[in-house]
Amino acid sequence: MKLLVVGSGGREHALCRALARDPSVDAIVCAPGNAGTAQIAEPRPVQVEDPDAVAGLAEAVQADLTIVGPEIPLVAGAADEIRARGMAVFGPSAAAARLEGSKAFAKEVMRAAGVPTADSRDHNEISSALADLDTFGPPYVVKYDGLAAGKGVTVTTDRDAAVEAVRASLRGPEDRVVLEEYLDGPEVSLFAIVTSAGTVVPLLPAQDHKRVGDGDTGPNTGGMGAYTPLPWAPPGLTAEVVSTVVQPTVDEMARRGTPFSGLLYVGLALTSRGLRVVEFNVRFGDPEVQAILALLNTPLTEVLSGRRAPVWRSGAAITVVVAAAGYPAKPRLGDPIRGLTAAGALTGVDILHAGTRHDEQGQVVTAGGRVLSVTAIGSNLESARGSAYEAISRISLDGAHYRTDIGDPSRMQHRSTRTAGRTS
Ligand code: AMP
Repeated sequence: MKLLVVGSGGREHALCRALARDPSVDAIVCAPGNAGTAQIAEPRPVQVEDPDAVAGLAEAVQADLTIVGPEIPLVAGAADEIRARGMAVFGPSAAAARLEGSKAFAKEVMRAAGVPTADSRDHNEISSALADLDTFGPPYVVKYDGLAAGKGVTVTTDRDAAVEAVRASLRGPEDRVVLEEYLDGPEVSLFAIVTSAGTVVPLLPAQDHKRVGDGDTGPNTGGMGAYTPLPWAPPGLTAEVVSTVVQPTVDEMARRGTPFSGLLYVGLALTSRGLRVVEFNVRFGDPEVQAILALLNTPLTEVLSGRRAPVWRSGAAITVVVAAAGYPAKPRLGDPIRGLTAAGALTGVDILHAGTRHDEQGQVVTAGGRVLSVTAIGSNLESARGSAYEAISRISLDGAHYRTDIGDPSRMQHRSTRTAGRTS
């Protein structure tokens, strides 16, 4: 089979790595890709946001299966366009991708399906939204209703900041804002593959770390690291999420005539009153999937199609994001990265690239804020952590920064008292 992977981040490098291990995969194209994917997949330029361009590339390379990494092309209809040309794609239709594209829509589906989630109301007028802020009270949760490239959600105890977030969300006549009840408790990401026949295949639960600094401090990012499995997760969590969240949502989408297939990412809070959905996404989460795929022992295409259930290696996996100087505010680009070979030579370590490219001299340089996802497996979380941080110590990148507490057992309890502040 020839596979097309669309995207250029650590997620896409992890997908390419897993596909390269799959015996039924002969060739991979990763478009546009990065300096890491280029080692195992043919790079091709593509306007990722343009469904026609993505489908045109799938046709041009005669892909037997296209996997769309990021949400923007899915919400724009890339999967519909590829299917319309008679080709196979892993990813939901635009109608089903609204589960990520509109938070108000996702809430409406959850309510109709009886899925446990935070109480919420959406508004398109500043005055009604501001009055409703006080009904919810602090901590305030204010969400822009649409894709916002990680800038759409404010969680704060400061009423002025909440008011400002409402105003910032309602700039144009089409804009809506969602106000929500605050959810306490640790967060879990649970990914489920939903096949075109509607079969649900859950993957391992993982936890990501969105804030830039140790101890969940500082501004929000695209994700600074993740680990799996979760030693502290309640037994039966995955089965409970499938039966109370994923299956009812899949059934509700089918009932509406817009069946979901692809990857349903369930962002959960394990609150004192039980699990609640924080958000849905319609694609693999980055960086969680880097850690999850590191433990996958079954050919990825078999798992995506539902032909085989995933079998997992024992032990644990962790991924630590190395970010460029200035990330997340203003990442510095073009800095040389050294030591990648020495870092990748460590047993159980995989250096996945995100914001990297080759410069004119063939040197790998930074090309984005999140530069590398240093991923390691081990017999337990401690040994996986040790390997990942040892690998990072071999990498040299001027001004680089990363969190030192990913998967740290002494920090895990801290997640149950999340501090309020600006988030994605
Ligand atoms: P979202 O984009 O909806 O996932 O929100 C991004 C982040 O904001 C989540 O990962 C949570 O940390 C936080 N968040 C979102 N909704 C809530 C909520 N209702 N209560 C507390 N935190 C929330």
